[in-house]
Amino acid sequence: MACALALAQGCGREQTLDVGEFAPYVERFEEASRVNGTPLEVTDLVIRFGEMQTRTERGACEIADNATPVIMLREDTWALMDEAEREELLFHEMGHCVLRRTHKSELNGKGLPGSIMNPYLIRGHIYQKNQSYYLRELFAGSAPEELIYGF
Ligand SMILES: [Zn+2]
Repeated sequence: MACALALAQGCGREQTLDVGEFAPYVERFEEASRVNGTPLEVTDLVIRFGEMQTRTERGACEIADNATPVIMLREDTWALMDEAEREELLFHEMGHCVLRRTHKSELNGKGLPGSIMNPYLIRGHIYQKNQSYYLRELFAGSAPEELIYGF
C-alpha cells in the first residue's frame, strides 16, 4: 500500500545510507542541489573504496535492480587527488547514482567539457574556476554560457 506513494527506486525495500568518511561530499552535493533550485536529500547510497574494472578508472557507480546504488572509489588515486578533483569525481558518480544521469561528451562554447558528466575527469583547477557552471549544469541539465570562465 505504501508503495503507491513511494518513488519506484525506493519501493519495497529498505533504503541504506552508508557513506562513511565521504559524508561531507554528500552534504555539499545536497547543498549544491539547493543552491541550483532542485533541492534533494540523499537517502539511498553507499560510498566506499573498492576494486575498479580498468586501471584508469578512479570511480564507478553501480546500480542494480532493487539494491542501494554503490559508488566505489579507487583508494590509491583518491589519495593523490586534490579537493577539487575529489569533489568533481564524487559529484560525477552521484550524478550517475543519485541523479541517474548518463555520460555527456559534448564540449561547450569555450572548448571545455560541457558537463561534469563527461566521461573523463576534468582537471581540478578548471573544475574549480567553472564550478558554478558545472554545478548548475549537473542539477539543471543545462547552464548559461556566461558562467563559463575558461582556463
Ligand atoms: Zn561516469
